[in-house]
Amino acid sequence: MKRKVAILGATGAVGQRFIQLLQNHPLFEIGVLAASERSAGRKYCEACNWILESEMPNDIGEMPVVNADVKSVEKTGNIDIVFSSLPADAASQVEEEFAKKYPVFSKASAHRLKEDVPLIVPEVNPDHLTLVSIQKKRRGWNGFISTDPNCSTIQLAITLKPLMAFGVKRVVVSTMQALSGAGYPGVASLDIIDNVIPYIQSEEEKIELETLKILGKFDGVKVHPANIQISASCNRVDVKDGHLECIFVELETKPNVEEVKAAFESFRGEPQELKLPSAPENPIIVRDEPNRPQPRFDRDLGGGMSIVVGRIRHDPVLTIKYVCLGHNTIRGAAGAALLSAELTTKKGYF
Ligand code: NAP
Repeated sequence: MKRKVAILGATGAVGQRFIQLLQNHPLFEIGVLAASERSAGRKYCEACNWILESEMPNDIGEMPVVNADVKSVEKTGNIDIVFSSLPADAASQVEEEFAKKYPVFSKASAHRLKEDVPLIVPEVNPDHLTLVSIQKKRRGWNGFISTDPNCSTIQLAITLKPLMAFGVKRVVVSTMQALSGAGYPGVASLDIIDNVIPYIQSEEEKIELETLKILGKFDGVKVHPANIQISASCNRVDVKDGHLECIFVELETKPNVEEVKAAFESFRGEPQELKLPSAPENPIIVRDEPNRPQPRFDRDLGGGMSIVVGRIRHDPVLTIKYVCLGHNTIRGAAGAALLSAELTTKKGYF
């Protein structure tokens, strides 16, 4: 029996990825599609401007879109779990309403930093999922909210995790972020063609704070943020999908390039051990060519779920530097939430 899913924000850039990745999924199937009042009452194919290369599935196109509230969703179909890709302001209250009854896996930032809400990257901090039980008990909910980090944070955290063995002290990251990261319709074409915009609202703060929670220690009650200094600088670039990041790290021990490369290549987590459906075989793929990774050529590796690292070299100021690439709407968004839901299911939280 597959679990029935409601997608909140189903018409957006991330919602569409949810629909694509949930086709023929072994554990979950789509039950209800919800979005804003603008779309509610229309067929999905009429409400949604489909921006993926793959065709919109016919049966999905015929489904009704309903308002993203518990009553409207329950009136439309039975559901077991909720994937939310709502904007943060809408997510704040709506996700709490759903979480009283259902497990909610959220891509929105609204609840990420709350003390009893897990902020999960399944390969990095699966132990933080225990917060689900604490949250349910504390709030008296039957369901819960589990969140995934911001897209640019996920790929940074995945690459920092294997470096923790060398003692991560300070991190500087400069991002080049794709257009689909701004949702649909996103950035106006006349703003971004022939241009780079050196500002993405709240993005630097998200990277700096969320990474510390993800890499922090869970003591059985709460997460203690990692003792690392992080400085982020974020740019929007004229690329459709795939965030590229230049990362500079100071490490306590002084590994050489080969040791760092080996740490990246051998990195595996619980999703790989448990053979979760959305888990890539290699969470990190290292490319040796001097001019890779590149968004156009490397973002789909591992089905878009692998982080691609290249240009690993000694850094004359800190210790080591490298470039990493992640598919923002797959590993950074819908794929991340699916992997979290698969892990949570496998570990028996619902
Ligand atoms: P998007 O393309 O703008 O889509 C937003 C979705 O939310 C649409 O389905 C929209 O429905 C719906 N919506 C908007 N306001 C609503 C409201 N007041 N009530 C109910 N539904 C509402 O944005 P996105 O890129 O998919 O991002 C969705 C969320 O994921 C955001 O919180 C974003 O920060 C996060 N995220 C995005 C990415 C990425 O790469 N894009 C990565 C990580 C996290 P209508 O079509 O009816 O307006």
